[in-house]
Amino acid sequence: MSLSLIMNYMKSASGDPSTVWNWDALAMSANNMPPQAILPRHSPMLLADTYAIWFRWFVEGMCNPLRYVADEKKTIVDVLADTIVRIDQIYSHEPQDEREELADLIARRVMSEVERHRRIERTHASTAQRQDLIDRAPNGPRCWVCGYAFDQLAIDKFLRRRKGITLASPSFVDILRPRGLETRDMGIEVEHIVPVAGGGGGDDNLALSCGWCNKNKGARTSIYDVEGRAPRSVYMLGTQQWLELPHPFWTVRILATRKRCEHHSGCSARSSHDELFIAPGDYRGAPNLNNLSVTCQKHDPYAVDRLMPLDQARQIWANRKRMRA
Ligand SMILES: [Zn+2]
Ligand SMILES: [Zn+2]
Repeated sequence: MSLSLIMNYMKSASGDPSTVWNWDALAMSANNMPPQAILPRHSPMLLADTYAIWFRWFVEGMCNPLRYVADEKKTIVDVLADTIVRIDQIYSHEPQDEREELADLIARRVMSEVERHRRIERTHASTAQRQDLIDRAPNGPRCWVCGYAFDQLAIDKFLRRRKGITLASPSFVDILRPRGLETRDMGIEVEHIVPVAGGGGGDDNLALSCGWCNKNKGARTSIYDVEGRAPRSVYMLGTQQWLELPHPFWTVRILATRKRCEHHSGCSARSSHDELFIAPGDYRGAPNLNNLSVTCQKHDPYAVDRLMPLDQARQIWANRKRMRA
């Protein structure tokens, strides 16, 4: 095992918080790569999302997709024209054919992001598409993120079978993933999951999501699209007091990528068939990305404790403070 790697890193990593504001100290830290062994959980996601955000800042720093989203007449031709200007400014001494090739690659990425934003802004599936999504689900319609099975009332509302259907709030709410604090949470929403490179997007990209997962996912694609600290609030899980809530987007990102119970027994529960939950590990650690895992109901250590009366859960989430060190 790699304990020596971890220890060597800990000895050489600066523990002095004042160095965060010191450029020379940052340069030292940048040369001291942490071993992957400090990422015991979800490490592919944590690393891939880091690289993805560097890449996104590179691409979007060249050419901002948001400049083209609102005007549907703007195409890749417009994006390419702007990108070439930027490339010529920054890489003026490089061969022209390489500059053009790079501009083309960047413009395609930008355009695919433009298409993604446009799709998110017009996610209004037709009634036929809605019916198809309900019928297509082999084990009854479920949220593609958390596996929550929709009830008949939610389905009727989604398919607009009757007017004036209001979904009731549940009496008890999972404090760790509080679906039901708002009535939107209980409803069915349609989401475009996979941005198809270069645009397009057919029905295959449509999926059903519960309102809670959809509102907390939003347009985000990276774990680093939200703050790195969990919201703080005091609550009890069984006999233990916790001081932070799992960040809702962390929950969505982990559930949507793992899609399975992570119990060491090799459990077969999958979000396509079963509802899955987020569970913090040992209470002595913070409920952060290295101390949260996906569990099915059967293996959930907090199966009973996580359920709290609606008003109590609402209060705990209302009390949260963000970004306080
Ligand atoms: Zn969900
Ligand atoms: Zn399980």
